[in-house]
Amino acid sequence: MLNIILFGPPGSGKGTQATRLKDRFCLKHLSTGDMLREEKSNGTELGLEAKRFMDAGELVPDHVVIGMIAVRVDEVLNKGGFDGFIFDGFPRTVAQAEALDKMLSERETAIDQVLALKVGEEELVKRILLRGETSGRADDRDESIIRNRVVQYEEKTAAVANYYAQFDKVTYVEGEGGIDEITEALAAGIDALV
Ligand code: AMP
Repeated sequence: MLNIILFGPPGSGKGTQATRLKDRFCLKHLSTGDMLREEKSNGTELGLEAKRFMDAGELVPDHVVIGMIAVRVDEVLNKGGFDGFIFDGFPRTVAQAEALDKMLSERETAIDQVLALKVGEEELVKRILLRGETSGRADDRDESIIRNRVVQYEEKTAAVANYYAQFDKVTYVEGEGGIDEITEALAAGIDALV
């Protein structure tokens, strides 16, 4: 299997790039943000629990996202049809990373590489506000919520890259520039593994 984490701050292009890479490498794209938005719009109990954190630009508690990911990973492994996973927006804390590693090792697989997109804060805010014009996401429209998401990233998520760096599993990729060019840089990082 080939398991990739597409890592980076909010607005760094993880979703866009994961969508492009998944078909090329036959990977299942798992985005916790997309899953949580689906739960929210279906009005499930989990969605209702997640809503207040998401609307404030805070992280949803670890146990909620870890449980949600475990269910999806097992669904895919049982059904088959993919060569691995591309995780997008997960893990977002070191506790989530440790839980993911444990979950994968129990299933006799592991994270191969973390591809980390680098984008400056002002560019992130600009991109998210632009996306907010069409995304229908309340958390993309309010600059103070967007800045809080960046703060959460710096305070809780950036450490995930250090966690994987101790296993020599992090490749940094420039996330500003043309979308095609960034896809090729990420694909080269994956090609190097296969
Ligand atoms: P995203 O679409 O990845 O930007 O996620 C949108 C929001 O969903 C985030 O601001 C968090 O509130 C929540 N979220 C998504 N993934 C996670 C995660 N792995 N851990 C905690 N909260 C998450």
